Amino acid sequence: MRIVIKVGTSTLTHATGRMNIRHVETLCKVLSDVKNAGHEVVLVSSGAIGMGVGKLNLRERPSDMPTKQAAAAVGQCELMYVYDQLFTTYSHTTAQILLTGEDLRDEERHQNFSNTLNRLLELGTLPVINENDTVSTAEISVGDNDTLGALVAVSVKADMLVVLTDTDGLYTADPRHDASAQLIHEVHEITPQMRESAGGGGTALATGGMATKLIAAQICMDAGTDMVILNGAKPLLIYDLLDGQSVGTRFVGR
Ligand code: GLU
Repeated sequence: MRIVIKVGTSTLTHATGRMNIRHVETLCKVLSDVKNAGHEVVLVSSGAIGMGVGKLNLRERPSDMPTKQAAAAVGQCELMYVYDQLFTTYSHTTAQILLTGEDLRDEERHQNFSNTLNRLLELGTLPVINENDTVSTAEISVGDNDTLGALVAVSVKADMLVVLTDTDGLYTADPRHDASAQLIHEVHEITPQMRESAGGGGTALATGGMATKLIAAQICMDAGTDMVILNGAKPLLIYDLLDGQSVGTRFVGR
């Protein structure tokens, strides 16, 4: 299988912006093992801005563009340094690809990206992709990594996009405020009611929330690709998923 895994800032970092070592270490170990089992793995990773905030000792996520871009430049280094070290521990070679929305919208640039990514997979690497935050502004960016993950998954004809986040999946209501909220195991159609209860989203450090996950799911479903939301605090669930168990929320591609 060709699997794209998207991991969010809420999984990779603590609220302080400093790295969540337990989550990152377990994730890299599981992904290395999944690759050893013969699957192709592409990681779409957020966390550049979040980690830059931690490393620069900023008090909060910056709202102005130059500081955001500076934080991303610092954090992206830290992120790749850690991925390189951890994947090397398990004898895997990683590679960095930074994209903007323009790179995916422009046919020639998209083709170049796709050629490079396919070659990297043929060469046996484990590519790590993020938005090129240091140069992307609102006009040219994809904007959030859930959507970026979906665009990448569709572009490389992945069998599945796995989105790791800070909840177990999509619920019938917001589980933080409604005790009767139930996890939805399988979605064949995204309803207006789901969109409404997904609400806005994001945290102090991250962009997404459930709203962008539904946008990503729709992109995948329309292209016939399955997307599964799993809890990023439990990376071992990826094994259960690949064993065919029902975990998290699966959006079934048409
Ligand atoms: N590209 C951003 C980062 O690495 C995150 C965007 C997102 O989380 O959706 O910090």
